[in-house]
Amino acid sequence: MTDLDEVRAQVAAWLAEAWDPGLSLAQWRARLADSGWGCPAWPREWCGRGLPAAAAGVVAQEFARAGAVAAPEGVGMNLAGPTILEHGSDELKRRFLRSTVTGEISWCQLFSEPGAGSDLAGLQARAERDGDGFAVSGQKVWNTSAYHADFGLLLARTDWDVPKHRGITYFILPMRQPGVEVRPLRQMNGYASFNEVFLDRARVPAGNVIGEPGQGWTVALTTLAHERRLAPAARRPPTGGPAGRAAEEAAEESERAMAPYRWYPQRAGRPDLVIERAIAAGRDTDPLVRQEIVKLITLAWSARWTAQRAAAARALGRPPGPEGSVAKLASSNVARAAARVHAMISGSAGMLAGADDPSGEGGRAGIVSEIFLSVPAISIAGGTDQIQRTILAERILGLAKEPVADAGVAFRKVIAAGSGASSASSVR
Ligand SMILES: Cc1cc2nc3c(=O)[nH]c(=O)nc-3n(C[C@H](O)[C@H](O)[C@H](O)COP(=O)(O)OP(=O)(O)OC[C@H]3O[C@@H](n4cnc5c(N)ncnc54)[C@H](O)[C@@H]3O)c2cc1C
Repeated sequence: MTDLDEVRAQVAAWLAEAWDPGLSLAQWRARLADSGWGCPAWPREWCGRGLPAAAAGVVAQEFARAGAVAAPEGVGMNLAGPTILEHGSDELKRRFLRSTVTGEISWCQLFSEPGAGSDLAGLQARAERDGDGFAVSGQKVWNTSAYHADFGLLLARTDWDVPKHRGITYFILPMRQPGVEVRPLRQMNGYASFNEVFLDRARVPAGNVIGEPGQGWTVALTTLAHERRLAPAARRPPTGGPAGRAAEEAAEESERAMAPYRWYPQRAGRPDLVIERAIAAGRDTDPLVRQEIVKLITLAWSARWTAQRAAAARALGRPPGPEGSVAKLASSNVARAAARVHAMISGSAGMLAGADDPSGEGGRAGIVSEIFLSVPAISIAGGTDQIQRTILAERILGLAKEPVADAGVAFRKVIAAGSGASSASSVR
């Protein structure tokens, strides 16, 4: 029996005993957090079981088999939890980890600014000491889910007289307060997943700093590595699922939490739809279409295997590395190629949106136009294609580093000189 078989047997036995669909979601998730099976790779003292990352897949399969509700999806479990585990004090872990696993609190990421995306370390949101905490002012942008989050993972500048990477502090910002204004942004595909967040002397208790003041860049790199690893995965809202009170409440929670991600499958280009759509449209006998479909599927499969190799490396305990950039870049290439093949199959009808699309192919009218309008996002979110190429050039291929215009210069002087020039050393 392998270690993973052992884990499978243990989690199956626990679910047979503990899973009760009649419980409320809060009661069930409390049981889940106590057991450690909600996040098996986290340490035992923090709601986990200290198992290798590879165990998570086996545990998820057993939850699905039993029809049991799992820990919530989203920024909390995927970014906030791992960042607090790696850099947070025990006090922060006590205050935030369990309530994240139970789904009592939700999170968003407040990193990007109008003038700081790729050059994230050039951010200008300002945090000043204010009594027993900090007051933060500035503007964030592209913040997914900010309109319903309880807490934000916030980067703000606390020291302007050191080079840009050294003056940043990483905060946990309470979102529900007068100094925080969230305004939704409408995208070209019709959804409104992102927000602008305006901070006007928003209050952050001193105890809400992750890591040390001024050391926020190191902490941010952990969040970004986890984000890059996740980006290629197309998030799909769960469908169907188990019956019972806990499951119904989990479905409502998921409906709310996953709403901003509804178009994410289309963002990945939907290579899974091309064959059925080619057959339905009678284009599967066209040699050019067939050739492009085969090229696309070859690319998609090799990208999937690359992602699986990266997952296997993590399962062996290796930290997320440049292979995340390879996988992210591959997912952009697949999405673009898939959009091209969909265009060949649909022709100009692919531009018709919603009810105007007469075909309704792929199970939903207007899906092809939604693919066209969503695919560009995958090469931007979590670090653009150009930035991934720079990372690969420098860290894997060993090519010369991109010149750094502002190395060693106090950030105050960089701004005064009007040179916010981004460089590969500062990119997300
Ligand atoms: C779907 C999606 C979800 C997002 N969710 C969040 C979120 O929840 N929270 C959050 O904080 N942010 C979020 N973002 C923002 C995202 O992180 C930024 O859009 C991204 O980092 C790029 O920054 P930018 O938009 O400012 O583009 P810029 O950095 O201004 O880049 C513009 C162009 O210049 C190129 N470029 C820039 N610097 C270099 C360089 N050194 N070398 C070569 N080319 C360069 C870029 O590749 C790009 O093509 C999200 C974005 C998307 C699309």
